[in-house]
Amino acid sequence: APGVSEVRVAMMADKPRRRIIAVGSGKGGVGKSTVSANLAVALARLGRKVGLVDADIYGPSQPRLLGTEGKRPDAREKQLIPVPTAFGLGVLSMGNLIEPGKAIAWRGPMAGNALGQLVDADWGAAEILVVDLPPGTGDVQLTMLQRHKPAGAVIVSTPQDLALIDATRAMQLFEAGQVPVIGLVENMAGYVCPHCGEVSDPFGRGGAEAEAARLGHAFLGRIPLDMMIRQASDAGVPPAAGDGPQAEAFLALARRVAT
Ligand code: ADP
Repeated sequence: APGVSEVRVAMMADKPRRRIIAVGSGKGGVGKSTVSANLAVALARLGRKVGLVDADIYGPSQPRLLGTEGKRPDAREKQLIPVPTAFGLGVLSMGNLIEPGKAIAWRGPMAGNALGQLVDADWGAAEILVVDLPPGTGDVQLTMLQRHKPAGAVIVSTPQDLALIDATRAMQLFEAGQVPVIGLVENMAGYVCPHCGEVSDPFGRGGAEAEAARLGHAFLGRIPLDMMIRQASDAGVPPAAGDGPQAEAFLALARRVAT
């Protein structure tokens, strides 16, 4: 009979080498889902085999961002098969499993099981799974850390003080769970007025970079507050799939994250 260590080696060989990159934020509305979707699309554009898990179980927005609303994933041998998108990657989201617009009122353990179904789906050749976490530091995040062992975490914040304090808390959660923080992304930085071209900083400037430095984490760059990003996102076409400066910003982020 095979020894315990041989069994373990066989099990590890069965599991493809897949890195989970968790995208978190201290609070909602800072653009975590937007950054997750565009980071995944940008990684695919750079030739990486990538999948996207929408772990924002209670407020899934990836179906809208990636234009897969109303599509249901198939299942094979009790494993879900990711929903294909038009952008070179598959996605799984609670939003593709529940009736659109229906609220989910689950307790922690059920949310944790749902997360397991999404992460342990049939991701095929994907080498990287980008996971869009719910905002804050709750049950789903803890399950993610403990059960699915992300290779690293990307934290999204706006330049605003309050968002930064919450982002710091999110970074501490990952560190406590021995998940390396890849770095901090500043979203909604620098607003370009579509009429006069003047650049203003509605939420201040430089705060996220300073905070990352203070905590000894990498600063992964700025994504400007840009009407085009909101419009393209709402239309289900991630700006990272286009060819404007917005796509460049997300490709630069993907290059930093994927090294
Ligand atoms: P979160 O996942 O943190 O709750 P979302 O990604 O859903 O945040 O973004 C919240 C809203 O802000 C959405 O309407 C989105 O289109 C918009 N948004 C996010 N980032 C930007 C940006 N850089 N420029 C313009 N709008 C943005």
